[in-house]
Amino acid sequence: MAFSQNVAKIKPSATMAVSALAKRLRAEGRDIVDLSAGEPDFDTPGFICDAAIEGIRKGKTRYTPPAGMPELKKAIAKILSERAGRELDPEGVVVTSGAKQALFNANFCLFGLGDEVLIGSPYWTSYPEIVTLARATPVPVKGSEERDFRLTPDDLERARTPNTKGFLFSSPSNPTGGVYTKAELKGLVEWARDHDVWVIADEIYRVINFSDDNGTPAASILDLPESSLGKKWVLVDGASKAFAMTGWRLGFSYCDVAAAKELGAVQSHVSSNASSPSQVAALAAYTETEKTAKSVKEMVAAFRRRRDLVTRLFDEMLPDFTYVKPMGAFYLFFRVDSAFSDEIPDSTKFCSWMLNETGVALVPGSAFGDDRYVRMSYAAADAVLEDGIRRLAGALARK
Ligand code: PMP
Ligand code: GLU
Repeated sequence: MAFSQNVAKIKPSATMAVSALAKRLRAEGRDIVDLSAGEPDFDTPGFICDAAIEGIRKGKTRYTPPAGMPELKKAIAKILSERAGRELDPEGVVVTSGAKQALFNANFCLFGLGDEVLIGSPYWTSYPEIVTLARATPVPVKGSEERDFRLTPDDLERARTPNTKGFLFSSPSNPTGGVYTKAELKGLVEWARDHDVWVIADEIYRVINFSDDNGTPAASILDLPESSLGKKWVLVDGASKAFAMTGWRLGFSYCDVAAAKELGAVQSHVSSNASSPSQVAALAAYTETEKTAKSVKEMVAAFRRRRDLVTRLFDEMLPDFTYVKPMGAFYLFFRVDSAFSDEIPDSTKFCSWMLNETGVALVPGSAFGDDRYVRMSYAAADAVLEDGIRRLAGALARK
């Protein structure tokens, strides 16, 4: 069967695929430790659920404007304005069905055939696919391993061609957990401004930051002065990771109002508005800020404790596997090529061998642009993490 050129190069999401496989094996009775998909294991905070239930009972179950409920756009713009220290226009906000859709809207509107989009690598598996869906060309740019893959303007400059139109990255990073400092961000964003390149800054993990001891969120492009940013930038964020709301499908973008109109227009034909009960839930999360801050603090403290646990266990039990020390998000990106052999020549084989041998589900680094590595999500209970790492160490010892 032939399909269109639109999908000729598209592969299904590897993170989603491994997680679906792990669920299927578990349903078949296998003893599975699922450390694949990046999804907080916490329940959505109760006050957010209550707001959604009350909203449903009050009839907030109809279409909203495609770019979102005005009161939600206003609440998001208020939070972003406080961060930026200047007034941001609610019309720059487009509320989306998950951050994924915000990324799709932005890439589809800003790039097309012949355009090249630089992608900070290792990258989240959907970035190159989303760029490809826009018929543009993804260009992964890898920072040096010594700098935990964090990019410098020189790295971007080496990859620049006359066709470079965009730069897409996440900080904190999925899959490495790397976090840019404000000064590093400034360098990257000013490089993009100076070369007329659109920046898409994915800040979905911003609050899950361990870079300082006070639980301060990671640096945001909105912490930078307007003069550094110019006009060509899109900030992407959402409720999935920060508020344990992955299934609600609620994200947003913020950008220049003229660009936001284009993003909203695309969405108006693709999915209309994000689910209205989810928007009501997000309104509670973004307005009841004290309750939200309390829940976020508890979850971030747990992620931090687990980061410390998994890195300690790796140091003790898997000393041959080096890793990027995670400073944010909830992933450990570790290097496994020391265990490669004729039977296990790459990260995909490594992960399928581990799954078969031990029941531990991990995502191969090839899905993130580095085949020497494997990604573990540590958004799981301490006992599950410990069990998973013990199984890995046991299998390697038997190998
Ligand atoms: N960006 C990154 C870096 C992610 O890891 C994810 C994970 N799902 C997303 C965006 C998409 O988030 P959402 O579930 O809100 O679509
Ligand atoms: N972003 C998470 C991950 O990387 C969830 C799955 C997905 O959307 O890719 O595992």
